[in-house]
Amino acid sequence: MKMLKNKEVVFELTNKCAYHCTICPREKMTRDQGVMSMELYKKIIDEAIPRGLEFVTLLGFGEPMLDKYFLDRVRYAKEKKLSVSTDTTGYLLKEKLAEELINLKMDSIRFSCFSTTKEIYHKLHNLNTFDLAIQRINKLIELKNKHNSIYPKTGVYFVRQDLNRHQTEDFINYWKDRVDEVNVWEAHNWTDALELRSKNYKRKKTCGRPHSGPLQIRYNGKISACCFDFNSQLITGDLSKQSLDEIESNQNNINLKKAHSTGDMSKYSMCDNCDQMYEVPDTLYYTNSNNNKVGTSGNTYIPFDEEINKKKNETISKS
Ligand code: SF4
Ligand code: SF4
Repeated sequence: MKMLKNKEVVFELTNKCAYHCTICPREKMTRDQGVMSMELYKKIIDEAIPRGLEFVTLLGFGEPMLDKYFLDRVRYAKEKKLSVSTDTTGYLLKEKLAEELINLKMDSIRFSCFSTTKEIYHKLHNLNTFDLAIQRINKLIELKNKHNSIYPKTGVYFVRQDLNRHQTEDFINYWKDRVDEVNVWEAHNWTDALELRSKNYKRKKTCGRPHSGPLQIRYNGKISACCFDFNSQLITGDLSKQSLDEIESNQNNINLKKAHSTGDMSKYSMCDNCDQMYEVPDTLYYTNSNNNKVGTSGNTYIPFDEEINKKKNETISKS
């Protein structure tokens, strides 16, 4: 049995979404849209646990809460003692669902919200849901307080663009005492899909993802080597037909890893043109999280329980 290189697995529950965010490459997504079957989701989790799976992230090129099985997915993973995280805009987080997620001790929810006003929110997300999203994020916080629960850990993130740059400080000030974590990122290119940041920096041999990134499982079971691969161009296997052990020996996987070891991307135009291949400074503009570092270009999901234990140990060693 082959162990997972990364203890995290990312599930794209669906690639459907009602939003049309200006920083998202979905507008260029030509692949089919759908929702992962519950059967496939359970099969992958059951297969991955003996191989070292510890946490699942419900995230992909769609809104996870559009999936009618969303709560069942969280429940199943929690029953298996896994840490569970998701990213959402929050407008579908009804009070009943929020209560259920608190009861299940879901580990973490990160909300994307790129404005402090209705007008700019509408322009950047292309949906008139600012009031609803803010109201539902605040309701979750209120319910956590009511139940005296630390779960789920809440985070909000803001992606800076021309239209909202001036709102950055207001955003930080509004959220920093409400949620557990605030992050402000500069926009990026989603490989070469958008032109939001410069590539005039030192080139790297690899972005690191094919070798050590978490498995990125698309709604139909296909595995992509890359979290930015919105059109599934870097497919290294199909878990609707193959086992996890077979994926490792898939020739696509071996070839892509080789390219990322040598730095020769001639057969991978997407990687060759990707903005993640450059040492771009200051991509994280602001954070109040101990897990992230301003100026770096990536963040690692650390299970909430691990964070709590770390904090406890720090407190003990200081006393
Ligand atoms: S960024 Fe998220 S919410 Fe916005 S269009 Fe893309 S998938 Fe939908
Ligand atoms: S170089 Fe870009 S497209 Fe290729 S694996 Fe890395 S992030 Fe993905």
